Amino acid sequence: MKRRKALEHIGVGLAAGMVMPGFLASCQKDDPGPEVPYNGNVIVIGAGAAGLYAADILRVKGIKVTVLEAASQPGGRVRSLRNQTDVQYQTFSNASQADFPIELGAEVIYGSNSSWGKIISDLGIITKEIDPTAGRYVLDNVAKKATDLSADSDYLAVQSFLSTLADNTSTASIQSAANVSSRAQALLNAQVANQYGSNANKIGTKGLAESLKLITHDQKQLTTFSNPWQDVLLSRFNGILPEVKYNTIVKKIDWSGNVITVTDSNNKTYTATKIIITVPLSILKSGGITFTPALPSSTTSAMSKFGMDAAVRLILDFKSNFWGLDSSFIWGGTTMPQYFNSGLNRSKYFRTMSLTVYGQKAQELSALSDYDKTLAVLAELDAIYNGDGTKFIRRDLTNNNNDSNILSLVKDWTTDEFTKGGFSYPLVGATLQDRKNLAAPVSKKLYFAGEATDFTGDAGFVSGALNSAVRVSTEIVDSILKA
Ligand SMILES: Cc1cc2nc3c(=O)[nH]c(=O)nc-3n(C[C@H](O)[C@H](O)[C@H](O)COP(=O)(O)OP(=O)(O)OC[C@H]3O[C@@H](n4cnc5c(N)ncnc54)[C@H](O)[C@@H]3O)c2cc1C
Repeated sequence: MKRRKALEHIGVGLAAGMVMPGFLASCQKDDPGPEVPYNGNVIVIGAGAAGLYAADILRVKGIKVTVLEAASQPGGRVRSLRNQTDVQYQTFSNASQADFPIELGAEVIYGSNSSWGKIISDLGIITKEIDPTAGRYVLDNVAKKATDLSADSDYLAVQSFLSTLADNTSTASIQSAANVSSRAQALLNAQVANQYGSNANKIGTKGLAESLKLITHDQKQLTTFSNPWQDVLLSRFNGILPEVKYNTIVKKIDWSGNVITVTDSNNKTYTATKIIITVPLSILKSGGITFTPALPSSTTSAMSKFGMDAAVRLILDFKSNFWGLDSSFIWGGTTMPQYFNSGLNRSKYFRTMSLTVYGQKAQELSALSDYDKTLAVLAELDAIYNGDGTKFIRRDLTNNNNDSNILSLVKDWTTDEFTKGGFSYPLVGATLQDRKNLAAPVSKKLYFAGEATDFTGDAGFVSGALNSAVRVSTEIVDSILKA
C-alpha cells in the first residue's frame, strides 16, 4: 500500500513502460546472505541512483534505513518525461510525436556491462546500440560524416586526442593538453569536454585520464528501446520505495553526538547513527546543507577540486528529419555542442532531437527564457542546415503567429534547486586521490556516495553513482561488523 503511494507521486509510473514481476525487481529481505546485526539506523539523503541502491543494499542486509528526498519523486538526475505530471511537460508530451521514451536527464548507457548496463540487461530490458560510426562533426559550419573527414587534420587531431585520453599524463586543462587549432576548438569542446560536463579550458586532463584508465566495462553506448529510465530505477529498487520520504529537504546535519540529528526545511528532525549523503556536489559546495561540526578540511578541500557546471537539455520535435536518418550525435556546435538523433533505432520517425550542453554556454542559455533558448539553438541549426531548423521545427498549429508558436521542451538542470547543474568533473589540479578523499567516511558517522564520489572510472555517470552505492554500503557494513 505504501509502495503504491510512492508510485503515485510520479504519475503513470511503472505501468507506462514495463511489465516486471515484483519478485524479479529487487532483492528480498529473506534472500540468502548474511544479515548484519545492528541496533542503530541509517539515513540516506537523496533518492537518486546512488541513494536508492545504497539504501536497498542495507535494507536487504537487515539494517534499518530511511531515505530523505527533497523532490516529490525518486530518480534525481534520472528523470523521464513519461513519469512527469508537471503541466509544462504534459503540454510538450501532448504535442510531441516521439514514440520512444524521452529522458530529461541521463539518456545514454555507457557500457553494456557497466553497473547500469547490467541492471538494465538483468531486467531483460531491450536496448539499442548507438552506432559509433554514425556521428556527424561540425567544422566550418558544415556537418560531415567521419568518412568525409578522413583527410581533415583538425578533425583527426581531436579524434586522436580523444582516443588516447586515458593515457594522457598532462597536468593541464583539456584545451592546453589537446592544443588543437582554433578551427577544431568547438569539436574538442563538444566531443571531449561537454561529454564530461564542462568546457575544455576547465576540465583537468590528469583527473579525467586517471579515471578513464580504470574503466573495465566495454565502450558500447546504448539507449533503452521503450522503457523510461525512471521506471527502470523504480522497478529495480521498488523494495526500498516505502522507506523514502519525499518533499523532505535536508538543511542541517548535527553529528556532534553519538546520535546524529538531521533537520529538514520544515524544522522536522530525524535521528540516525550513520548518514549517507548522496546529494549532488553542487548542493554541498553551495552550502545547501549545514554541518555541525563543520566538515573536516580533508572533505572540503577535496570538494574544491571538482566542478559542477550549468546544464541544459532541450527536446526539439521536427516535421522532417533534415540532419540525416542514420546520424547519431552531431558534435561541434558552439551554442549546442551535442545534438542527438534520439529516435535512432527506436522510432520510424527520427524527428526528435535531444540536445545537451554543459558549462559556459549552458550558463548563458540558462539566463534566457525557454523560448529564447530554443531560438538560439534553431539559429545554429539554421546556419548548419540552410534554414531547415526554423523551417521544420514543430509548431503550435492553434497559434498562427509564426514568430511565437515554436514547440520545445526545456529542462534546465542549472535552476533545478536540488541539482544545480550537470555532473561533477575534475578541475585542473584534481587527481583520482581527491575523489577518494571526497568519498572518505568521517568519524564512522558521515558517509558519502553519489556520482562525484566514484573512483572506479565512472564518476559523473549513472554507473558511477551505482558503484559508489556499493562502496558506501560495504563501508557501513564493515564498520558495523568491525565495531
Ligand atoms: C542533462 C544530463 C545528462 C546526463 N546524461 C547522462 C547519460 O547519458 N548517461 C549517464 O550515465 N549519466 C548521465 N548524466 C549523469 C547522471 O544523471 C548522474 O551521474 C546520476 O544520475 C547521479 O546520480 P546520484 O544518485 O549521484 O545523484 P542524483 O541523481 O542527483 O540524486 C541526488 C538526490 O538528492 C536529492 N537532494 C538534493 N538536495 C537534497 C537535500 N537537501 N535533501 C534531500 N535530498 C536532496 C536530489 O533531489 C536527488 O534526488 C547526465 C546528467 C545530466 C544532468
